[in-house]
Amino acid sequence: MVGHDRGVTTTVWVFGDQLNRNMGALTLAEPGQQRVLLIYSSAKMASKQWHRQRAHLFVTAMRRFAIELRNEGFEVDERDAPSFREGLLAHRNDFAPDAVVAMESANFAGNQLLIDLGVDLVRSDQFLCHRADFAAFAAGRKGLKMEDFYRWQRHRLGYLMDGDQPTQGRWNFDEENRQPPPKTGLDRWAPPPRDELDDLDRAVLASLPDSCWGADPDGTWATSRAGALRRLDHFITRLLPIFGPHEDAMVSTNWHLAHSLLSPYINLGLLLPGEVCDAAEAAYRSGRAPIASVEGFIRQIIGWREYVHGVYWLWGPEYRHANALHATRALPPVFTGAPTNMRCVSTALATLHDRAYMHHIQRLMVIGNLSMLAGVDPWLLTEWMWAGFIDGAEWVMLPNVIGMSQHADGGKMATKPYAAGGAYIDKMSDSCKGCRYDRKQRVGPDACPFTTLYWDFLARHADQFGRNPRIVQQVRAAQKLSDLPAVRERASEVLGLLDRGEL
Ligand code: SF4
Repeated sequence: MVGHDRGVTTTVWVFGDQLNRNMGALTLAEPGQQRVLLIYSSAKMASKQWHRQRAHLFVTAMRRFAIELRNEGFEVDERDAPSFREGLLAHRNDFAPDAVVAMESANFAGNQLLIDLGVDLVRSDQFLCHRADFAAFAAGRKGLKMEDFYRWQRHRLGYLMDGDQPTQGRWNFDEENRQPPPKTGLDRWAPPPRDELDDLDRAVLASLPDSCWGADPDGTWATSRAGALRRLDHFITRLLPIFGPHEDAMVSTNWHLAHSLLSPYINLGLLLPGEVCDAAEAAYRSGRAPIASVEGFIRQIIGWREYVHGVYWLWGPEYRHANALHATRALPPVFTGAPTNMRCVSTALATLHDRAYMHHIQRLMVIGNLSMLAGVDPWLLTEWMWAGFIDGAEWVMLPNVIGMSQHADGGKMATKPYAAGGAYIDKMSDSCKGCRYDRKQRVGPDACPFTTLYWDFLARHADQFGRNPRIVQQVRAAQKLSDLPAVRERASEVLGLLDRGEL
């Protein structure tokens, strides 16, 4: 290659989830001192059937970041390559850098690759709690409760603390934040900002493989730091004040409610977790948002998000093989395009198709719940969610799906399975009223599949859960059902219909 700056001897290799000037190896980099390498790996793109919006975001955000770095004066080597390994070899051939430096990868395989390739690693600051600090927190503890970790983070980081005490004397405002959908005012949640697609967006879309699925992007998801900062401002000013109360509710006519929709940006580095929490806390301190909303949001960032990342590294690559409930069912056809009469499921999947998104309760209590009740292979579900969700990543999906959602780790992460029948979905959504199924019935052709499968699941796994104090009562209730044989027979029919895409 000709025309590159021969005075620059060090390369900073930036991955697609590290797109921030103030992150890792880029923090101290200077134009003229370091060059930047970005590799677009065909193998990575071909490794899954990505949602088009996810693939588009990932590639476009990298392209825009490269432009920003060039505008700052950096020499940037953007390289299309069959794989990361081959991309780095070609870069080394062309530029002969004395050293290649990169921030630790957020996933096992990425990190191992960097080590194998002799890349100098810089400690990751992608999370407020580094994986080594999480391991130190976990060492010697009998249990590893998220709540304990979250309080440790609050103390350590100082969010919502007044001296040594939590602000307003409480760590947790979940009780205020579990309200069902409101009966009126369903337009109270301001829609997310949108950007016009430009030539770069269109070029990236044209380059995506045919295997990608889902609707084209409509500008809802930002693909630059500037766009992500606008979304952060929108959330803090318009939605955070009303974020808390209905954060677990599902409304069929509104896909976003007051959710921040910031996770893809934080996961790609376009926003930093600290600046997001700082903005939320500032809104509370200046009287612009109530404590219950701000605490609920900060808990998701410094609690759940960092906890999930911590346990991913703590429990290691073997965790992906966990399958304590021996679930082997193939992915139901409804997840990949077959129609369904289950209104809660069709609403969630339509949002996934249109937005590459579902909020956490749709993920956990509709799609995840149905999968666990039906006995879907947890790894197949993990891969599907990872490829389909705009904020998917291995470190996110493994603990959230294998542990939290599917209970495939035998209770390491969640002390009870997140199983529920139609009653829960009816309470937290507006789906059941217009549904072809009846959430109160557990047998017969009109029975709600969730209700039928819920009782069948408890009876089927009575040995496993019969001594779990958090669910033993429900297991006993299932065993005492006078119509249990009929429920189990109907469950078998339901599973057949699910497998054939006829439910
Ligand atoms: Fe979902 Fe059952 Fe309610 Fe229908 S009745 S929306 S399948 S929970």
